[in-house]
Formats: sequence, structure tokens, C-alpha cells
Amino acid sequence: MTMLQSKNEPLPSSVGTAYIIRAGRLIDPETGSAKYNQSISVKDGRVVEIGTDVAPLENAETIDLSEFSVLPGLVDAHNHLALTYKKFPENNVYYYTYIQDSTAIRAIQAVSNGIQMLSSGFTLVRDLGNNALYADSALRIAIEQGWVPGPTIINSGIIIGSMGGQFHPTPEMAKQHNIVYPEYLDADTPDEIIKAVRQNVLFGAKVIKIMVDSEPYPYTVEDMKLFIKEATNAGGLKVAGHVQTEEGARRAIEAGIWSIEHDDAINDELHRQMAAKGIWRVGTETPFTEYSSTQEVFDARVSRLKNAFANGVKMAFSTDADYYVPGLTRGEVVLNFLKTWKAAEIPDKEILKIMTVNGYKVSDIYDKRGPVRPGFPADIIAVKGNPLEDINALRSVVFVMKDGLVFKRGGVVTPEKFFHGGPVNGWNIR
Ligand SMILES: [Zn+2]
Repeated sequence: MTMLQSKNEPLPSSVGTAYIIRAGRLIDPETGSAKYNQSISVKDGRVVEIGTDVAPLENAETIDLSEFSVLPGLVDAHNHLALTYKKFPENNVYYYTYIQDSTAIRAIQAVSNGIQMLSSGFTLVRDLGNNALYADSALRIAIEQGWVPGPTIINSGIIIGSMGGQFHPTPEMAKQHNIVYPEYLDADTPDEIIKAVRQNVLFGAKVIKIMVDSEPYPYTVEDMKLFIKEATNAGGLKVAGHVQTEEGARRAIEAGIWSIEHDDAINDELHRQMAAKGIWRVGTETPFTEYSSTQEVFDARVSRLKNAFANGVKMAFSTDADYYVPGLTRGEVVLNFLKTWKAAEIPDKEILKIMTVNGYKVSDIYDKRGPVRPGFPADIIAVKGNPLEDINALRSVVFVMKDGLVFKRGGVVTPEKFFHGGPVNGWNIR
């Protein structure tokens, strides 16, 4: 949950609960293998034991998932839970969403989006900005305090960029900050870079997100090294870079950035450099659907994804989801991104590993959360079918356990255990 708990301490929201999960097929995405007829015991929010025969726990409820595949929770490594642009009234122009929707209303909508993600099996979301005035921190804190259910959130706070960020503001917006500021934090000089990182950390960021190559002022390699130095100093936070040009990618790689967000500008040569330096590719590979992209854009994206896989680049499953598609939940919008990964002919086992293990790693949480492992928080899902052979099995999540509490069973969301009237996790507003 937060830094308050060290390993093996009970999770405060889950104290006193115990379950024995009977898993028909228990999948280990790390090895791409499965074991059959396994049991998992869970107590006080954490996995205790895994095996064909586990020790009974006092007052444990048995959950029968013998007909299903059981696996660790999924990860979307790039989402925007507190941004939902839509056809009406803003004609899908997010520029206007910023103006119309307050931080407060966006934070509440983020709670709903988080619940929708959790229902689709996503127990961890990297939430990378465009979240008004720290609606993302508010969401993370509300989940950690046990007020609402949701995925574990690794949030960036406000995206930092050279003046104007991605936004091409008018002088009135940029200079007077009357409307829509602060969707981006301006940081042009070394002092401003340091200040911006510290502001985000103070207001709850768990990763630092920067605009590597905003027009007209891209960051230099030295600028990015300073970001990395400051983030590292603040408890070892990682720096994620929005990249839209080849030159930006080249500089970010040279600076040793943690992750490159978006795939548009990355080619074979850059993939090779990323693989050599171990830099994460968080490609946000939008599929071609009736509501997104075009065949041409999609084909180019698929060939880039194939190239990245062939080059052994470290990859995460990510979506950039920040829009409403009528009839679909945020989780269903995200799962449609499977289409791109299938089109790139990446083996189902690999896709599953990318959506789980790689997601924990790019979130820099792999040593604390994610794998179904004794001592770890019990973030466990179950699906019909076998995702090692057909990754689209992930579209039918029937069971979700988060922090050792049952959020969904029999395909129905049952969230009552996630609502607490006060903070369960100490009062830590960061
Ligand atoms: Zn994004």
C-alpha cells in the first residue's frame, strides 16, 4: 500500500480476513507455465502459502476457482484516470475538457475509472498526468486509505515541460494562469526543473513525468540528467519521458531516462539503443477500432512493435487511455489494446508477461507487489480459459482480489469490504 508497511506486516484495510483460494490452473506469467489444482492461502491481505496442500487458516473462507485460470493482477503502465474527454460537449478535444471539468469532479471520475479498471483485472495503474491539480494524488490516497476500491496507483502529479508543456497555451493562459493552468508545470531553467520535481514530490507524485521534446523547446540531455538526479534524490523516483521526435528519443536515451512513453518516434536504431541501455518502452499502442486510429497508422504501429520485440526491448502494456467510448468501461477500452499486440504476432505467453511482470517492473514495485508470492499483497485475478494460449481470455475476468480482499466474484463486483469510514492507513496525505 504505502511506505508505512514493510513486508509481512498486515495490510491495515485487510486485517482479520483469511481466504483459501482453490485454483484450477495457477499461472506463473514469469515462466509462462501453469500448475494445476493449487491452493493459495491469504491472511491479513497477504499471500501466506501456495501449494497442492496448504495449512488451514482460522476462520478462512474457501473460494472455489477450480474451473478457472488464476493469475496475478494486470498492469496498465500509462493511463490518465482523471481525464475523460468525450464526444459531447467537447468533440473529443481534451483541451476543452481541462476548461470544463474541475479538479474535484475529475478526481471523482477518476475513482469511477479506477473501479472500472479493477473490474477488468487491473490491480496496478501508472497514472501519468493530465490530472488537473493533483486529482491523481487524491485518487491514490483515497484508495490507500480504504475509502474506495481501486488499483494501486503510481502517479506522476503534474507533467513537467518547458513553458507551455504540450498545450500551446495562449499568452493569457500561460502568463496569467487564469484557466487550465496547471495541466503542465513550466520548467525551463535548472532552478525551475529542481523546483518542479520537488513540487510534484511534495504533492504526492510517485514517478516524475516530463515532456522530453515539447515544441518549440525540447529538453537537452543535461536538463534530463538534472531531472533524473532530483527524482533519484527524492526517494529514488523514476523519470518517465513523453517522447514525440527521434531527436527527443535519442537525447532521452543518452540521458538514461527510465522509460520512453509513446511509440511514434522510435525506430530500429533507437530500439537497439534502448535494449542496450535497458530503457523501458511504454508504447501506448492504440488499436485500429471503429472509434480510434486508422489502418495506416495502425500498420506502422504494429511494425514498430514487432521491431521492438525482435530487438529485445523491455516493454510494458500501456494505453494512454483518457477518453470515453459509449458502451465501454475504461477497463474494456484498455483491453481492446490486446488487438495491437496480437497483430504484432507476439506470443500470448509473452503478452501476459508484459501485462504483469513487466508492468510491476516498470512501476518499480516488483520487489513489493505483483507476483503471487508468499509475503506479497494478494492481488489475484481469475479468468475463463487459458491466457497462456489465448490472451483474449483476459476479456472475461470473473474474480478480482485486491490487497487480499474480494472485489469481484462470479463476474459480479462486490466491493463492500473496500469502503471504510475513515483512514485505515494512518493519516498520510501525501
Ligand atoms: Zn499519456
